[in-house]
Amino acid sequence: MENRERFKVICSECGHTFYACKSIAQEIGILDAGHGSCPKCRTFLNLTFDENSNEMKAMEWSKYLKSINRNK
Ligand SMILES: [Zn+2]
Repeated sequence: MENRERFKVICSECGHTFYACKSIAQEIGILDAGHGSCPKCRTFLNLTFDENSNEMKAMEWSKYLKSINRNK
């Protein structure tokens, strides 16, 4: 487990950079199934894995929920 690859995340709220592993769901291809809290500002973030840049895209959780509802 300690060898799991970690991916760069830039906090959407404060711009802090940290690293997160993919969630189990992200490993099997559900790319927006990650979440975590920014270690600096403590904002709860949705993490969407971007296959093109090999990074996690962070979005504040309530904004993420709005973005899914908009797509329905
Ligand atoms: Zn932050």
